Amino acid sequence: MDSKTGQLRQIRDEVFELELSPLYEYRRENNYYPVLGEGSHDAAVVFIGEAPGKNEAETGRPFCGASGRILDELLASIDVARGDVYVTNIVKDRPPNNRDPKPDEIALYTPYLIRQINVIAPKVIATLGRFSMVFIMEQFGLKDELKPISKMHGQVFEAKTDSGKVIILPLYHPAVSVYNPNTKKDLLADFQKLKNLI
Ligand code: URA
Repeated sequence: MDSKTGQLRQIRDEVFELELSPLYEYRRENNYYPVLGEGSHDAAVVFIGEAPGKNEAETGRPFCGASGRILDELLASIDVARGDVYVTNIVKDRPPNNRDPKPDEIALYTPYLIRQINVIAPKVIATLGRFSMVFIMEQFGLKDELKPISKMHGQVFEAKTDSGKVIILPLYHPAVSVYNPNTKKDLLADFQKLKNLI
């Protein structure tokens, strides 16, 4: 087993056993799985969504429902295979009725996300939606650059990491485009920018 896989499995095992999570009981009662993430451990780009929905919690796989179909379409538009990227979320368990994640949930799960990012060491972090945008910008010392997502999507930010640098590209959450065709156009245009970064 390569060491990246080993480290990611270790993170997965810890999240499976995260009994102190406020979402743990809900996971157990519904026979849900935590959703750690999926894709290449050497991915040039890591996509970070919000939290698993029902389909994801039932299967343990990220973005496998309606939002996932849009993500697949967006990836296809730039000829990138889903298996060549890594897809994960800031919160690893499903919040009841898909409510927004709470600050204490984000605080609990994001250290695992940061470890995943450090293991994969992608060139680009593409955030999907406001919650992951805010978390990642703050985490990488770019809090002062934060604006509404309507102003930030498709803009390229650069941050220093322990091992070099990383590009941060905020994107709309794919689910928003189900109701808003303009957002879909923005997402398609922003994915073209992503293609040029990886
Ligand atoms: N929405 C998300 O933010 N993440 C998923 O995994 C699925 C839907």
